[in-house]
Amino acid sequence: MTDRINDQQINEIRNHIEKRRVTLNDGTTLPALGQGTWYMGENEHKHKAEVKALQLGIELGMTLIDTAEMYGNGGAEKVVGDAIVNRRDKVFLVSKVYPHNSGLNKISTACENSLRRLGTDYLDLYLLHWRGSVPLAEVIEGMEKLKNEGKIRRWGVSNFDYNDMMELVDIPNGRNCVTNQVLYHLGSRGIEFDLLPWQREQKMPIMAYSPIAQGGTLRKQLLTDPTVLDLAKKYNANPVQILLAWCIRSNDVIAIPKAANLEHVIENASAARIYIEKEDIDRLDQVFPKPHRKMPLDII
Ligand code: NAP
Repeated sequence: MTDRINDQQINEIRNHIEKRRVTLNDGTTLPALGQGTWYMGENEHKHKAEVKALQLGIELGMTLIDTAEMYGNGGAEKVVGDAIVNRRDKVFLVSKVYPHNSGLNKISTACENSLRRLGTDYLDLYLLHWRGSVPLAEVIEGMEKLKNEGKIRRWGVSNFDYNDMMELVDIPNGRNCVTNQVLYHLGSRGIEFDLLPWQREQKMPIMAYSPIAQGGTLRKQLLTDPTVLDLAKKYNANPVQILLAWCIRSNDVIAIPKAANLEHVIENASAARIYIEKEDIDRLDQVFPKPHRKMPLDII
C-alpha cells in the first residue's frame, strides 16, 4: 500500500483499533476512529492521493468513512466511491443530506444521487447535515422510507443541540436516530454539559467532527499547549494523537479526523494505542475545563 509502513506495523495498528470499538443502540459496533472527507474531491489533481489515503485508512482499521453530498459538491463522494471499490463490505459508509433536500419530495433523489456517486446501493448511515426548515416529522418519515426501501441501513442527525434532540425523540420513530454528529475536541467541550450525558444515557454515541480542530488559531493553541506537549512526550506520541486519544477516551465517542496525507492517516490510526490515564485527563481538564453552564452548540 505504501512504503511508509510494513505489514507488521499495519497489523499492530489494526489490532489497537480493533480494541477501541463503540456500540450503536442497534448493537452494531464501529471503530472509535473513522475518517472524514471534507475538502476532498475538490481538485482533480489530488483525487488519486485522496483515494490512497482513504484506502490506507481502511487497511489500518478506520473503516468508518464520513462524507456528504455537500463536500466538493458531490466530489468527495466520488473519491470515497473510488476508494471503496472491492472494499464495500469492509466499510461503514456515512453520508449526509442537505437540509434543503431533506423534504419528502427530494430526499429519495438526494440519496440516490449519493449512492450513484459512491458506487453502492446502500448507505450504512444517512444523516441530516443540519436542521433546516423541513419539519423534523417529515425528515423522519423520509429517512424511515429510505430504510424500508433498503437504501439506507439507519439514520441520524448532525449539528443538533440538546433541545433539538428532545424535540426529535418526541416525534414518532424519532428514537430510531442512532447518532448525532457534532463538533467536539479538547478546545470545544460545550456538549459535555447536557448533550453528551443525555446521549450517553440513550446509548446513542456522539460522532465527533473536527476532532483535531481543523484549522485556525484554536488548533495552534491546542497543539502547542505545554500540557498537551508534555503528555505527547509521556505517551511517545504527537499532540494530534493526544487530541484524538482524548476524544475517544470514554468508549462512546467516534472521532472522524480527515487526512489526505498518508503520514497523517498513519498517525491518526496509531492514536488508538493511547489510553490517557485519569491523572492526565485531570491535568487537561485544568487547562481546557469542562463546561459548568449551558454553552451554544459549536458549529463550523
Ligand atoms: P479535522 O479532522 O479536525 O482536521 C482536518 C485537518 O487536519 C486537515 O487539514 C488534515 O490535513 C489535518 N490533519 C489530519 N491528520 C493530521 C495529523 N496527524 N497531523 C497534522 N495534521 C493533520 O477537521 P474536519 O475535516 O473539519 O473534521 C473531520 C471530518 O468531520 C470532516 O472531514 C467531515 O467528514 C466531518 N465534518 C462534519 C461536519 C458536520 O457539519 N457534520 C462539519 C465539519 C466536519 P491533511 O488532509 O493534509 O492530512
